[in-house]
Amino acid sequence: MLSLPLTLRYNVFVQQSCRSLHLAPPFLLDDYTPRYNLISSVDAAKKRSAAYAHLRECNLCPRLCGINRYEKTGVCLIGADTVKVNTIAPHFGEEPVIQGHNGSGSVFFSGCNLRCVFCQNYDIAHQHNGFDLSPEELAEWFIKLQEVGKVHNINLVTPEHVVPQVALAILHARDIGLRVPIIYNTSSFDSLESITLMDGLVDIYLADFKVWKDSTSKGLLKADNYASTAMESIKAMQAQVGDLCFTGDGIAKKGVLMRHLVMPGKEDEGVEIVRWLAENVSKDMYVHIMEQYFPRAHVGKPKRRGVKGVTPGGIEASSESEVRYEDINRAVKSEELSTVKKAAVDAGLWRFVDVTEHAGFHN
Ligand code: SF4
Repeated sequence: MLSLPLTLRYNVFVQQSCRSLHLAPPFLLDDYTPRYNLISSVDAAKKRSAAYAHLRECNLCPRLCGINRYEKTGVCLIGADTVKVNTIAPHFGEEPVIQGHNGSGSVFFSGCNLRCVFCQNYDIAHQHNGFDLSPEELAEWFIKLQEVGKVHNINLVTPEHVVPQVALAILHARDIGLRVPIIYNTSSFDSLESITLMDGLVDIYLADFKVWKDSTSKGLLKADNYASTAMESIKAMQAQVGDLCFTGDGIAKKGVLMRHLVMPGKEDEGVEIVRWLAENVSKDMYVHIMEQYFPRAHVGKPKRRGVKGVTPGGIEASSESEVRYEDINRAVKSEELSTVKKAAVDAGLWRFVDVTEHAGFHN
């Protein structure tokens, strides 16, 4: 038998020890059945009743309107009988583990319960363009996406304000043959009641954590207590479905995929967010630190000040810097991105979306 030098023997020992001690977390699934196909008919009936009850006194998001949506609309401006949908199509702008080869079957809902001044989907979320669909019609679109589009999942984009209708649609879709996972693609400005109603119906939570400070939430999202609401919601999502898991084809089937869009000059908030996620939710969380911010919606628009100022000498005053939200009227700098990414690694997060694989647009 050959005798190895001491240092080489030590290296071999370390490598073998590492291999034998490394227990891969259970992120790989042999097979997967969507959760909505596992709930009993009794629980499905309870979900339907709860959905109708919520619509009659809607506190389904932190706006807490408390209104009967069969009679009037709240802040989200969407009633009870239908949802307003802007686009339904296979979508190729999501993370590779979500869009796969055939695309993610995305349903872009019109309207939103936030009013982000930088909204990256302003025409859809704020302008209420779209067509009305009943829960049953929406379910039939899910089936079309599955059968014709061969999509990997149904991706409900900005569903926070239409959770009851979405619950009814999923339950109807399961009765008519839906088999692919459901993604709840949210800003995380959800109430716990919403997340509870979605329990058993949603397989993947694709959740944003947008900003950390209340002042930023008020100023840029036009919402109070965004961060505290998001923290509660994200913990509840994680408790339901856990860390993101895949089948052997590399497509995500179940779990939480967390997104944070780094904002210009707000990298300190991104640092707080990734630290909180690692310390309070899971270090094994699958995280996408997004870098595609660009000024949209109200950012960079001229301030509404009426007529331009005129100096006493009669010369028109310059209005070059008179734009709204000037502090975020630029792209994100690479050093701002690096700061957030480094903080995430330092906090112990390690499962990141590889942005080099992906150059698409996110929602
Ligand atoms: S979902 Fe709409 S109606 Fe219900 S509380 Fe939120 S904003 Fe108000």
